[in-house]
Amino acid sequence: MFSFLSIEQYHEQLRLQATSCTAAVTHYLAQIEEHKNLNAYVAVYAKEAVEKAAQLDKKRMEGEPLKALHGVVIAIKDVMAYKNHRLTAASKILENFESIYSATAIEKLEAADAIIIGNCNCDEFAMGSSNENSYYGPVLNAIDNSKVPGGSSGGSAVAVQAGLCMVSLGSDTGGSVRQPADFCGIIGLKPTYGRISRYGLIAYASSFDQIGIFSQTIPDTALVLQTISGSDEYDSTALKTPLSQSSDKTNQEDKKYSICYFKEALNHPSLDEQIKKQILSFIEKLKAAGHQIKAIDFELLEYIVPTYYVLTTAEASSNLSRYDGVRFGHRTKDNVKNLTAFYSKTRTEGFGKEVQRRIMLGTFVLSTGYYDAYYSKAQQVRRLLVDKTSLLFKDFDAIIMPTVPTTAFPIGEKSNDPIAMYLADIYTVFANLTGVPAISIPLFKHSNGLPFGLQIMTAQEDELTLLQFSELLLQQFDC
Ligand code: GLN
Repeated sequence: MFSFLSIEQYHEQLRLQATSCTAAVTHYLAQIEEHKNLNAYVAVYAKEAVEKAAQLDKKRMEGEPLKALHGVVIAIKDVMAYKNHRLTAASKILENFESIYSATAIEKLEAADAIIIGNCNCDEFAMGSSNENSYYGPVLNAIDNSKVPGGSSGGSAVAVQAGLCMVSLGSDTGGSVRQPADFCGIIGLKPTYGRISRYGLIAYASSFDQIGIFSQTIPDTALVLQTISGSDEYDSTALKTPLSQSSDKTNQEDKKYSICYFKEALNHPSLDEQIKKQILSFIEKLKAAGHQIKAIDFELLEYIVPTYYVLTTAEASSNLSRYDGVRFGHRTKDNVKNLTAFYSKTRTEGFGKEVQRRIMLGTFVLSTGYYDAYYSKAQQVRRLLVDKTSLLFKDFDAIIMPTVPTTAFPIGEKSNDPIAMYLADIYTVFANLTGVPAISIPLFKHSNGLPFGLQIMTAQEDELTLLQFSELLLQQFDC
């Protein structure tokens, strides 16, 4: 019987010949089959995964040293290009589309000998918070099948939560890795904007999009991040500076951090009372352990969701104009009179309701007459947020916040109320607007039986502090 605790432990077992990559792949394929009802995967590459595992087992037996992700079974969100594999963004408009190249992150996974086991379900074009906007139907939360897993990377989150792979990749434009990680009780990291190349990631809102990582442990997250990050000639926004590594040999467990939280965030009326209470009592524990914690005023909080939705829909309306039925994917079969009717019919048939809503909203905020009132204004708010945030990180190592105002909600509860769904992004969109790295770690359990996370953010490019602090919390505090 194969069991997985961490990549390090798996590699140890491989070296001892106590297990094999073939055993790992066989195990995950059986688990995926057994948990089909969760709808986490939209494609499984069984044959390829088995072959790759056999090759790796052979290489190892021949004495080749193990590469960083040797035999690590990884699932990817259906928005990442993987050469000669389907790529649909969970949309009808890309039904049956196959990518002719691989994303940089995927190439790096392959170069490190990872095994890509399949594509995960998600909200269409990564737009959503519940995975209910998928052409393939909703994904179920494995802890309680009547609840959503979160979104938009719900399938990737459940794949890790339910033990259907070792780690997975998602994308996070406004919380799509952290929010499902919170709902599923696992770790979800959104690195600094630009840390991982976006080449080959289907664009939703390009100045926000970032690939993120789901896992069960911080060392696994760190290892995957280290492997897939880095500059890229195909993405000018990819960071040139390398990820800093820990050179500090002092005992991290004894380090004391200086942390702040926003009063407005914890006093927000949408925040579940019990989540608030548990986070406040956690803050007391942190203080008792010698960390410095300060509550600060952050009067811009109410502006961040509107700012996010104005800017991301504007970018989406432009990014999604390429799906016109001429170049890729779905094309209407109706007899249409002219080109405009052809576009309109194709896009009406191909895009789901939420995607259509966002394209229209984005077109509206960019239109003459409204551009200054909405788009320019939102850009100004974003600048204020960025400036204020970089000042904050001169005084503090980290900001802490809830990840989501509630625990996982019932499937269907918010699907007819887009505004309620958008407002629940209040805590996650901040990190995307400002570009800072952010993580959700599974520290808490609600009395309703569901898990929830703590969100931590650090300064631009400081994933090292983010991961070290997260590890310290996970090791020292069990709430
Ligand atoms: N829930 C957010 C939205 O709907 C986040 C999406 C994302 O991060 N891809 O836009």
